[in-house]
Amino acid sequence: MKVRVAAKAGFCFGVKRAIEIVKDTVRGNPGPIYTLGPLIHNPQVVASLAEMGVVEIDNLKEISNGTIVIRSHGVSPEIVNEARVLGLDIVDATCTFVRRAQELAHDLTEQGYQVVVVGDRDHPEVQGIKGWTGGKAIVVENPAEAALLNKEAAYGVIAQTTQPLENFNSVVEVLRGTGAKIKVCNTICNATSQRQQAARELAGKVGMMVVVGGANSANTRKLAGLCAASGTATHLIETADELDPAWFNGVNTAGLTAGASTPDWIIEEVRRRMSEIEEQNGPEQEEEMKDAVEVKAVRPGDIVTGTV
Ligand code: SF4
Repeated sequence: MKVRVAAKAGFCFGVKRAIEIVKDTVRGNPGPIYTLGPLIHNPQVVASLAEMGVVEIDNLKEISNGTIVIRSHGVSPEIVNEARVLGLDIVDATCTFVRRAQELAHDLTEQGYQVVVVGDRDHPEVQGIKGWTGGKAIVVENPAEAALLNKEAAYGVIAQTTQPLENFNSVVEVLRGTGAKIKVCNTICNATSQRQQAARELAGKVGMMVVVGGANSANTRKLAGLCAASGTATHLIETADELDPAWFNGVNTAGLTAGASTPDWIIEEVRRRMSEIEEQNGPEQEEEMKDAVEVKAVRPGDIVTGTV
């Protein structure tokens, strides 16, 4: 069995930058340092930052002094104001691509457009973008939801940076069909689309895909969804420990990709473990495993995690 790694996988520009900003802040700052929610959606990275003294909080009301780091997802202007009123030092690690989406959402609202954000309505990035429209933006997750919108004179359409392009385009098509004036701002970032394209291409060439990333990472889950949609058995894991040798039985080539919040060291650990499984699954063991393991059947569209 061979292991092939997607041409683009793992940490993106915005996540690398946010981690560097936090490390610099820790080096130059003796006081308490907080992040509002996890800095990135990867539990292993968050745990290593916690060891450096970076404390994750859920709400600014939990603190009264120190430094708050705004993570790459960004926040609404109200939260920045709240931090100022509390007298906190603010370090902004909002990704520049997210910042662009926030500014466009704000400008479109000022210009009289009804902003439609295509994305996951519960995702912090989307909630932050909505905040930049004074809460006026409507969030739709798919074309079916867009079809239910009340008709407006003008829609300004922007995307959560991690949206699949196909979903964004489908929503735009539905809104065009209403006859309203439409201004489309494609705010999907290259890092996401490159990782999605590389994952899709690789999934089409291998017998099984492993996708590595935080279970709470939206872009990782989307990568896994795209791989599974290609009809290839897909397994979403956080660490190498979750790899199950049974998945590799009868597979000639396995593919590996990772979400934008997955560090290189975890990808390398998974790749190494996959190669070890390859060595263990020699001809003799393959024979044994045929009888010993019943591999769960996977249908196109299924996402199989290491825990089921
Ligand atoms: Fe920035 Fe794109 Fe990374 Fe999000 S996925 S943090 S928008 S570079």
